[in-house]
Amino acid sequence: MNTEVKLHPSSELLNQFVQGELTTGNSVVVSAHMELCESCSAKAKELQALAVSSWVDPSSAVQSDQSSEAADYVNMVAGIVTSPQITSAPIEDLVEVDIDVLDHSIKLPKVLAKAASQGLKWKKVAGGISEAQLFIDNETQCELIYMAPGCKVPVHTHQGSESTLVLDGSFEDELGEYKTSDFIIRDAQHNHQPRSKEGCLCFSVLDSPLTFTAGLARLMNLVNRYKFKKATFRVA
Ligand SMILES: [Zn+2]
Repeated sequence: MNTEVKLHPSSELLNQFVQGELTTGNSVVVSAHMELCESCSAKAKELQALAVSSWVDPSSAVQSDQSSEAADYVNMVAGIVTSPQITSAPIEDLVEVDIDVLDHSIKLPKVLAKAASQGLKWKKVAGGISEAQLFIDNETQCELIYMAPGCKVPVHTHQGSESTLVLDGSFEDELGEYKTSDFIIRDAQHNHQPRSKEGCLCFSVLDSPLTFTAGLARLMNLVNRYKFKKATFRVA
């Protein structure tokens, strides 16, 4: 558990997670962060307790169908979040996926290991960047991204949002430096160029295609749109 995490999901996002309002891709990235961050995990449990107590309040009985759906979702998520404390874990919780980078290997958070357990196909993209897609839902493009030391992603913006969790190493952009376990959201307000001095492994969830905004990389925008379509079409 990393105690030096600086960047966390907002309370609003954690609440949406607890209420089951996020896409599965975004739930997975928030949940993976919680595995690495004690304070967000505790906060989500509090929000969950609050949500459950408001659902069992008889004055809100009119919404009972919705409430039981939400409660099922919360139980499912709580199962993922609290699984490290369960001694007789179900077999699917025991899946472990390690990724080798440079001179060491990284154990993926359980929720990602589960999504990656069918095997990762790494593709070299360009300039020291490799990507492996995880097919999680049909609304988001989810991928593990490895940036070799010294590499840069072309300047880009987003039509929707991009949530990124740093799993190892660090990267920086115009707004700051991000280290292991940090959770970052970028959207249409941001035009940024991630780059990494020491190399890094991230998990990223996009809810719309990336849009490169400078130089020849702009020619890739059609490919980005195609990639997004392909990533979100695979899951029924
Ligand atoms: Zn956190």
